[in-house]
Amino acid sequence: MSPIAFDNSYARLPPRFYAAVAPTPVTAPRLIRLNVSLAVRLGLDPRWLSSPEGVAMLSGNGMPAGAASIATAYAGHQFGGFSPQLGDGRAILLGEVIDRDGRRCDLQLKGAGPTPFSRRGDGRAALGPVLREYIVSEAMAALGVPTTRALAAVLTGESVRRETALPGAVLTRVASSHIRIGTFQYFAARGDLEALRLLAEHVIARHYPACAGEGRYLALLEAVVAAQASLIAQWMTVGFIHGVMNTDNMSIAGETIDYGPCAFMDAYHPTTVFSSIDEHGRYAYANQPPIARWNLTRFAETMLPLLDGDLDKAVPIAQAALDRFDPQFQTHLIAGFRRKLGLATEEAEDVVLIKGLLDAMQDGEADFTLVFRRLSEAAGRDSPEACRNLFKDPATFDAWEGRWRERSQREPVPAEARRDAMLRVNPLYIPRNHQVEAVIETAVERDDFAPFEALVDVLAKPFEAQSGREDYERPPAVHERVLATFCGT
Ligand code: AMP
Ligand code: MG
Repeated sequence: MSPIAFDNSYARLPPRFYAAVAPTPVTAPRLIRLNVSLAVRLGLDPRWLSSPEGVAMLSGNGMPAGAASIATAYAGHQFGGFSPQLGDGRAILLGEVIDRDGRRCDLQLKGAGPTPFSRRGDGRAALGPVLREYIVSEAMAALGVPTTRALAAVLTGESVRRETALPGAVLTRVASSHIRIGTFQYFAARGDLEALRLLAEHVIARHYPACAGEGRYLALLEAVVAAQASLIAQWMTVGFIHGVMNTDNMSIAGETIDYGPCAFMDAYHPTTVFSSIDEHGRYAYANQPPIARWNLTRFAETMLPLLDGDLDKAVPIAQAALDRFDPQFQTHLIAGFRRKLGLATEEAEDVVLIKGLLDAMQDGEADFTLVFRRLSEAAGRDSPEACRNLFKDPATFDAWEGRWRERSQREPVPAEARRDAMLRVNPLYIPRNHQVEAVIETAVERDDFAPFEALVDVLAKPFEAQSGREDYERPPAVHERVLATFCGT
């Protein structure tokens, strides 16, 4: 009997949706970390997963019975330019399992060897990017942001050639699905209406069952727009910068996916960019909402023939659905920042109050995460000295703080309750880029994973002050700042 009860719905779609391919075995697999709580949630046996047989699966050396073992086909706009064929060039879908809550999840090996979609790539992943994805995706999950998860990371015992030779690794990624905007684009670019329809039906049944019935394709488009409006607002409220918001990196299910040169902002600035390949700041922090809408427009284009056989009728229908993005995003964003400021009621002027703090943070080069955390700690108590000191010129903060205090007094909730609510939404720990880079360096250079493990453990409880872990709160000192991140593909 297979140790995993696979139920592979994507592999039951027609063969042109994917290529059947086996992972390429590696010489010396070694488990770095298994996400035990996630394994349990997925109904998988952590002991089996860490056994030689389990590690063989997690490294691509042995497939359990019932695995799908496919690389999916997709296309995508990368930095604005369209590639009609990308596909899983280094990822192999093991298959789908149903978790304890009845949710269907993909299990995918990233870095499992070449596939028919590899083009010039080697199909492999270097250790650094695998650890980065593990750390940041798990941190996002702990922050409550929809995301793919990391089930395991293994070393392959082989090296991969990038600029230098680096240790190779495989990440086991868990996602609601790996269907992207680019998956729809792949079939749209081929004029394959039948496949588009099958894909849309698959997505409705799997992710948006409430859309089923009359008018379901429009309902699907609206649901994807709504999911992304909510997701991007959540990115903005935690200071997350994805870095490569290509349409092939945008999940139809509304999860954060494909962690490459992503990073969290330290000091607040709307034009912040980390990715070394994003020369023009296309995917800068403040550009994420308009880019998401741009990507959704590409999705809507693929849906036109399903919305109406007559293109002239389909276009305004799609346009109306897309027009919902901005107001929905704004609503989520303002609600998110209200919660961060401890405001349970709504006043029209709150938008100005929020903007005022962000402007002060920008002028004062203040740390985005710590400002909200220190504000929370001080709420309804003493004067927020620790917050004030985060600003280059604390006077800019004082003016704003007076307005916030005044506004807070109109809240019906007692001060202590407001404080508790703020502490539950404003994290103390985020995956700070300099810390992520440091633990990766120690792992890559010294084969020492203890700092990686410690960082992952701290980030699992981002809202809880952990004694002895004060170092993890700290923004980078000037000499520690990491200004560029690399996807390392
Ligand atoms: P990404 O930048 O990871 O979103 O990848 C963009 C495209 O390049 C996808 O089709 C990937 O499968 C492919 N790709 C990235 N790295 C590799 C690699 N090392 N080998 C083969 N294909 C890759
Ligand atoms: Mg990608």
